[in-house]
Amino acid sequence: MNQKNRKIIIGHLYPDLLNLYGDRGNIACMMQRCKWRGIDAETIEFNTGDTIDFTKLDIVLLGGGSDREQAIVCRNLLEIQSEFKAYVEHNGVVIAVCGGYQLLGKYYKTDAGTIEGLNLVDIYTEQEEGRLIDNIVLESELVDMPVVGFENHGGRTYINDNKPFGRVLYGSGNDGKSGYEGVVYKNVIGTYLHGPLLPKNPQLCDYLLSKALERKYGSAELAPLDDSKEMQANEYIVKRFVKE
Ligand code: GLN
Repeated sequence: MNQKNRKIIIGHLYPDLLNLYGDRGNIACMMQRCKWRGIDAETIEFNTGDTIDFTKLDIVLLGGGSDREQAIVCRNLLEIQSEFKAYVEHNGVVIAVCGGYQLLGKYYKTDAGTIEGLNLVDIYTEQEEGRLIDNIVLESELVDMPVVGFENHGGRTYINDNKPFGRVLYGSGNDGKSGYEGVVYKNVIGTYLHGPLLPKNPQLCDYLLSKALERKYGSAELAPLDDSKEMQANEYIVKRFVKE
């Protein structure tokens, strides 16, 4: 495969409703890191009610949202569920943040009612007393640096026998009790981390890009980039919150 002819198509789902704390910055990060490497990249935004052709997509982003916005999105989810499920089962890459993460599961139960999810991963979320709000630091098998971000959620997510995205070094994570954060299923990552996540953790961005390239082209060479500034920022946060 000629390395120059590679192209990644990113589907941004419901940016009109799911875009808390600048989760859209994850798109900018993926686009830019492709561009720096001469990889062609395109983002297609799908707003509620739009038809989505998952067979054209290489990466899907679902951002965070308020309970109210999630309830609106929920009505559109059933229409796309089977195509989205086929995409996931065929190793399509998904990054779902907070409200988007909760929507990957069976349901999100709130005081105002139960929001039915996409049922793509065997997890569920229930609202409990108090919101979990703070910076957060994880250690994840997927990357060799700590993952840093910010969390703000009322829902507690239970991942059954699934693999967590990381172990919490500082912060609350999935439920504030288990010591774990997020979920990994095939090429899907669900996480509570805003930040936005990918600019703060460029290695995670490259993990997603390589999974997408591997699936599309069978190989995933990514030229190294100068991430020294991002690494300094990461180190600062880790030192500030994680006690040796
Ligand atoms: N509404 C959800 C909750 O409070 C998710 C919030 C978010 O996306 N930050 O749990």
